[in-house]
Amino acid sequence: MADACLFCRIARKEIPATLVAETDECVAFRDINPEAPVHILVIPRDHIPSASAVKDAAVVGKMTQLAAELAKREGIAESGYRLVMNTNADAGQTVFHLHMHLLGGRRMAWPPG
Ligand code: AMP
Ligand code: ZN
Repeated sequence: MADACLFCRIARKEIPATLVAETDECVAFRDINPEAPVHILVIPRDHIPSASAVKDAAVVGKMTQLAAELAKREGIAESGYRLVMNTNADAGQTVFHLHMHLLGGRRMAWPPG
């Protein structure tokens, strides 16, 4: 539910986070438990529980564009980065407000664990 949702609350600035960008549609902030030198979460302002619930494809496009801009700003666009949307239990989704992880600044393994 959007009222109590952690990431809705971060977007509304009811809960502190290290914000790195805000647009009309999206908010980006640093992950509280970074898994890489750069670990940013890009979220839509609208409460969408997961990738499975996306109705407006443009939202995901806006998130991707913002993540790519931030990758440039953080200096990892050339070296490389990974964009991840964990969806439901097997993928390890823990917060049910759509978010794109922007990870970079180190070499990453493939396939993911
Ligand atoms: P996921 O496991 O894909 O659902 O990702 C949720 C992410 O949110 C994890 O990487 C957490 O470290 C991160 N996270 C949880 N709470 C906060 C918070 N208050 N501020 C920033 N990141 C958070
Ligand atoms: Zn939410």
